[in-house]
Amino acid sequence: MTATIDLERGRLTVITGPSGVGKGSLVNELLERNREIWLSISATTRAPRVGEVNGEHYFFVEKDEFNELVANRGLLEWAEFSGNFYGTPHKPVMKKLQLGFPVLLEIELEGARQVRKSCPEAFQIFVAPPSFEELERRIRGRGTENEQAIFKRLARAKDEISASNEFNAVIINDNLNLAVQEIEKLMGLIA
Ligand code: ADP
Ligand code: 5GP
Repeated sequence: MTATIDLERGRLTVITGPSGVGKGSLVNELLERNREIWLSISATTRAPRVGEVNGEHYFFVEKDEFNELVANRGLLEWAEFSGNFYGTPHKPVMKKLQLGFPVLLEIELEGARQVRKSCPEAFQIFVAPPSFEELERRIRGRGTENEQAIFKRLARAKDEISASNEFNAVIINDNLNLAVQEIEKLMGLIA
């Protein structure tokens, strides 16, 4: 944690949930429908997946560069997840909030906990799967991780799901369209 943010409740929204639950799919749809939302682009030491573009999906950085960001207080929050580091660049978030945009962070549990401390006004949403079996089907169906990475992510998913009661709201991503609508309601974008 590197900063304290003072802002209106609801301006900053955090979306957290286990790998493969559909956060990326939900966020894409949300951005498609609500052009005013600004999604923070994280820095990560993970290797790009096929089709991922530097500066669009993530800022792909080396470990040294990531350490420098941490040392220079350049990250609003950061965490290690499944053997890689991920963090939210601090400055662009502040800038967009100051300009009055609704800002979205799609981050894992430890990062959400850090934001809860530095920014208690942020609205935190946990996205849960309809069942653990369905989560496994989705993460395998995506086909982006090897068996070892899938195993790690599913093990971590159990801890994350058991922390869902820390969040302001829990959305079950069963029907994607309905889940997006629920998030839009929570963000005050639709009635
Ligand atoms: P995350 O960003 O949480 O890791 P993704 O958005 O990559 O998850 O989704 C993981 C997989 O699940 C993808 O193949 C996606 O198409 C699929 N998926 C997402 N939401 C749903 C849903 N509501 N029903 C069925 N499949 C879904
Ligand atoms: P993936 O490797 O599947 O893109 O992301 C793995 C996990 O890292 C997901 O739970 C995602 O939400 C999380 N994540 C992505 N960016 C950040 C970030 O900036 N900070 C934190 N704490 N987690 C992040």
